[in-house]
Amino acid sequence: MPTRGGSIKLFQLFGINVYVHWAWFLAFAYLVSRPREYSSYGWNALEVLALFLIVLTHEFGHQLACRQVGGKTNDIVLWPLGGVAYVSPPQRPGAQLWSIAAGPLVNVILLPLLSVLISVTSHLHLYDSDSDTYHLLHNIWLINIVLLVFNMLPIYPLDGGQILRSLLWFPFGRANSLLIASIFGLVGAVGLVALAIWQQSLWLGLITAFVVTNCWSGLKQARALANLAKIPRRQNFSCPSCKTSPPIGELWRCGKCGGKFDTFQTQGVCPHCGTQFSATQCLDCGTSSPISEWSSPPIDV
Ligand SMILES: [Zn+2]
Ligand SMILES: [Zn+2]
Ligand SMILES: [Zn+2]
Repeated sequence: MPTRGGSIKLFQLFGINVYVHWAWFLAFAYLVSRPREYSSYGWNALEVLALFLIVLTHEFGHQLACRQVGGKTNDIVLWPLGGVAYVSPPQRPGAQLWSIAAGPLVNVILLPLLSVLISVTSHLHLYDSDSDTYHLLHNIWLINIVLLVFNMLPIYPLDGGQILRSLLWFPFGRANSLLIASIFGLVGAVGLVALAIWQQSLWLGLITAFVVTNCWSGLKQARALANLAKIPRRQNFSCPSCKTSPPIGELWRCGKCGGKFDTFQTQGVCPHCGTQFSATQCLDCGTSSPISEWSSPPIDV
C-alpha cells in the first residue's frame, strides 16, 4: 500500500485531501512520451490528464459512499498503479459493499455520457476536420471501459474482488468471506501473471505483486478474525466506530512496557507500568477511540 509519505497534497474537496505520489510524475512523463496517433505531445498530455481525472472521480465515489454509510473518510492518494482511497467503512457487509461498488459505479455513469459525446463527434465528421479531438475523445471512452472492466475482475483486493468478499460476507461471515476471496484472488493472480508475461507488461506485473501481497495478508487476517470470533465478548462496551463489543482477555499490549492486559478491565491503564492510555484500539475494526466513548450499550447492527 502506498502511503502519504512521498506524496504532494494537491487540494481538498468535500473535506477529503487529495495527494499525488511522486512516482506518478514519472508515470506521467513515460505515458506522455509514448508515440500516439496525435499531432503533438500536448494531446498525449491531455489524454493522461483525463485518465488521472477518471481515476480521481472513481476514488471520490468510494470516499463519498463510505461517508454516507457512516464510515470515516480520509485521503485519496494517486500513484502510478491507480488511486487509493483510504476508506474505513463500518464492519458490516452492506456498508462495505456500497463503499466498494460506488467506485466502479462512477465509471458506469461515465460510460453513457462519453458514448453520447462519441456519437456527436461521428455526426459532426470530426475525424476529418479535427482528428486530434476525435482520437482524444475515443481514447478517453476506451480508458473508462478498460478501467471499469479491470477494476471489476473478481480478484481481491481489486474492487471486483472486494465486492465478491462483501457478497460472501452475508452467508459466510466476516472471516470466511475474506478467506474465500483471498484464495480466489491468488488463483486470479496466476492468470494475471500469465497476462503480464504475454503482454510483457511491467504495470500488470506490479499489479500482480500488489494482488499477491494483499491476498496473503488477507489469508492471515482471515485466520486472526476467525480466532477473534471465538473469544467471548464484554457486552457492556461497544466500539464507537463499528459497534462491536470488545473480546474479553489480555489482548492489548502496552506501548511502553510491552506487557499484555485487558484494557477494559483496567479502564485503559496498564497494570504493569501504570501508563494511562487516552485511546483504545478496537481489535475488530482497527480504529482507536477514547475508552469513555466505548461505554455505551451495544447496538445491534
Ligand atoms: Zn475502486
Ligand atoms: Zn471497531
Ligand atoms: Zn505498561
